[in-house]
Amino acid sequence: MNLPPHLSVQDGHLFIGEHDTVRLAEEYGTPLYVTDEGRVRARYREYRDALSAHYKPVLVLYAAKANGNSALLRVFADEGAGADVFSPGELELALRAGMEPSHLLFNGSSKSRNDLRLAIERGIRVTLDSMDELRAIDEVAGTLGKEAFVSFRVNPALDVPTHPKIATGLASSKFGIPHERVPDAYRAALEADHVRPVGIHCHIGSQILALDPFIEAARVMVRIAGELVRMGVVLEFIDLGGGLGIPYRHDEDRAPTPREYADAVMPVFVDGMTALGIRPALWVEPGRSLVADSTVLLTRVNSTKDAHRRFVNVDAGFNQLVRPAMYGSYHEIVVANHADAPLESTCTVAGPICESGDLLAEDRPLPAVTEGDLLAILDAGAYGFSMASQYNARPRAAELLVRGPDRAPMRRAETVDDLVATQLTPPWL
Ligand SMILES: *Cc1c(COP(=O)(O)O)cnc(C)c1O
Repeated sequence: MNLPPHLSVQDGHLFIGEHDTVRLAEEYGTPLYVTDEGRVRARYREYRDALSAHYKPVLVLYAAKANGNSALLRVFADEGAGADVFSPGELELALRAGMEPSHLLFNGSSKSRNDLRLAIERGIRVTLDSMDELRAIDEVAGTLGKEAFVSFRVNPALDVPTHPKIATGLASSKFGIPHERVPDAYRAALEADHVRPVGIHCHIGSQILALDPFIEAARVMVRIAGELVRMGVVLEFIDLGGGLGIPYRHDEDRAPTPREYADAVMPVFVDGMTALGIRPALWVEPGRSLVADSTVLLTRVNSTKDAHRRFVNVDAGFNQLVRPAMYGSYHEIVVANHADAPLESTCTVAGPICESGDLLAEDRPLPAVTEGDLLAILDAGAYGFSMASQYNARPRAAELLVRGPDRAPMRRAETVDDLVATQLTPPWL
């Protein structure tokens, strides 16, 4: 199987960076998420350098929802990145990790007045998703005696080839203002007393492996930027969103690199800006493609069973990694303690959760597997821990960060005490 540069097989064991996953699992227990910091930094730099080769200024805003661990947010802050935040929680985590307020964008289609107040107080730009939200933010900013700096999310109505649950730029999507109504939205923002429109935003979906939709979206954004400039909007930034996919099927999929993305999209953007005679910052918001392949989820085999199919029962299920159950997603699986053994049988890898749908992989050719073996679920760094739950009262897993020869937990495993920590006993019980 093709492996990314930070994963290797040495003497039959899967290594992440300099670390033997078999040793890590013994030391820290399973299930365990392990992330390679160097890989995250390398992916970020690929984006930054590829885009900056075409245009400046560029800001990469990491989509915090992909993996909100504070250690990773610190890594991105250290690299000079910003963040796309979708909730007051993500906003707060990004600020605490040391990110500049001016490097954050508060996105989302349903924000409360409290959310809007928090953003205005912290000096964070907000992407508006409806005319109601424009009225709300104008009122909130007025009450605070401040000005709100905003963009609108454009729905470019593109048919993007990805899973329907993560295609967000379709005409029917819940996100964004239909592109033909965007000028009216900005006209209203220009007329509002306490709002200043400073940017435009779009995000067409996730796990997109083709470049054409990104090029198409950039064309729509350039066209709209032209209309806004003629209307008198001073654009500080144009945000083209995230969504670049990764090759989850290592030997079959091919994902564009950040450089290929930049080489495809940037000519459209740069020509557009040159024609308009403006130089706003270019913002992009990748999540998955920055962190997905940095991380493996280690899980121990509890038992195997030859029933109608051959089952391999492991200690992580959709409580730790929901993507296979939620989207039917494919993740490569390596038997970490004999990673170079030949494929032997077709197995269905099942978690410990009380649901028939709790499968991490179906009918997958694997080497011989028995109780006590260690499996590594690859590409678990995006929408892995961040979508984990405590279903079945199973504590969430620990997360470990490795960098060169160093390793340190970036989150301890939860315990049963954590499960009850927020529960209260009504006085009559
Ligand atoms: C989820 C999201 C992203 C990141 O998407 P990826 O597919 O992880 O790159 C960026 N921007 C917005 C607004 C999002 O909702």
